[in-house]
Amino acid sequence: MALERYRQKRDFGTTPEPRGRVGAKKKGQLSFVIQKHAASHLHYDFRLELGGVLLSWAVPKGPSLDPQDKRLAMHVEDHPLEYGGFEGVIPPKQYGAGTVMVWDRGTWTPQGDPAEAYAKGRLKFQLDGEKLKGGWNLVRTHGSKYGNGKQAWLLIKENDEFARRGVDARIVDDEPNSVLSGRSLDDIGRKRAHVWHSNRSVAENVRAGAVSTKKKARSKPAASTISLADLGGVKPAPLPATLTPTLATLVDAIPAGDGWLHEIKYDGYRMVCRIERGSVRILSRNGKDWTSALGTIGEAVSRLPVKSAWIDGEVTTVDAHGRTSFQVLQNALADPTQGSLTYFLFDVPYLDGYDLRKVPLLERKRVLKSLVPESDPVLRLGVEYLGPGKEFLAQACNLGLEGAVSKRADSLYRDGVRTREWLKVKCAQRQEMVIGGFTDPQRSRRGFGALLLGVYEPGGKLRYAGKVGTGFDQKARIG
Ligand code: MN
Repeated sequence: MALERYRQKRDFGTTPEPRGRVGAKKKGQLSFVIQKHAASHLHYDFRLELGGVLLSWAVPKGPSLDPQDKRLAMHVEDHPLEYGGFEGVIPPKQYGAGTVMVWDRGTWTPQGDPAEAYAKGRLKFQLDGEKLKGGWNLVRTHGSKYGNGKQAWLLIKENDEFARRGVDARIVDDEPNSVLSGRSLDDIGRKRAHVWHSNRSVAENVRAGAVSTKKKARSKPAASTISLADLGGVKPAPLPATLTPTLATLVDAIPAGDGWLHEIKYDGYRMVCRIERGSVRILSRNGKDWTSALGTIGEAVSRLPVKSAWIDGEVTTVDAHGRTSFQVLQNALADPTQGSLTYFLFDVPYLDGYDLRKVPLLERKRVLKSLVPESDPVLRLGVEYLGPGKEFLAQACNLGLEGAVSKRADSLYRDGVRTREWLKVKCAQRQEMVIGGFTDPQRSRRGFGALLLGVYEPGGKLRYAGKVGTGFDQKARIG
């Protein structure tokens, strides 16, 4: 499964459609989307996530809830997962020129092995969408009836409680509008601003309204319930135009004593994000704009329940082999198909009309935690430990991590200052161990449950070396 055919057909300098990339092959919930597409002929693009892409069929009449209606579904090229969120206008003369609406979306559950069933041309599955539910079949035809050989499939409703007959089955007529924005095709077509331009940054696209945020707003976590105005040291202020992150001072020994919050030192890129009314810019600590290189992160950040904010964190990556390292990260940035990026968030110096830079760190952390969804695939809260530093560092080093960053629990956020209230300590002797992944957080915990670590044996074989998390989690992990 690949996107060559998808990309060959499109000029991403002109069309608003996303260039996209092959996503991770998921074991869990698979998404589906149906896009209503007013091209030369109106049709419905039926797309099922499998193998990191969207398998796609063009259904001229759209789905029917009547099991006796066998709807022709022409198999077309795989589309990137990002395409599932695309609603807007494909400009004239471009492939598929016309208006695209997200007509339905949700999850699909295949019966049996979906790859096998797909290869055989008989997919049986359940849909849990906003409009379509219950059992469905996609069956490849062999006859000459539709002329086009193996490209012709049929989309058929299973006979179950969600099946309807006659006029009740015409769901495309009964529910014609977008599940993303509630708009009709005409509304989308008129609003030319809702056009995704691949030659613009995510921020520019978001600002121009290419991405509808209405639906996303519904799935956002509730906005922070913490009363910002009541925080000590807080100050109402407009969103600063720039922010240079606080830097940690390199020291030889981890600080002893109470009042220090220890974090893992990540092997990645320090990045701050500026969010203003859904528009996201991602900047390196020197102010270089990384927004377009970090599209998935920008998208994830744009879903946070904030109006305006600066957030601070480290971008790193876990590649197909489970390694996370600066080198792998650089490769991933050069070729986004190589690995999935994770943004570890650790600070929020500004939020929704309030300057938090003079609010003590622990309070800022509390605010940050209230913003980040627990199981976001891209955004993670870093491991934190409020306790004896020596123990934390020893464990980090044992596990082959790069080191630790220790911050005074009451430290302020100081723009561009290399402060001694933030200290970084590197492990003296670092075994080449790697983070192979992380488990999901349990119950009330956030970020991740545990880091899974591995070590490369001579010959290059990666061996599982153990789990870390207990040492960090069970003690005085905040929150
Ligand atoms: Mn189409």
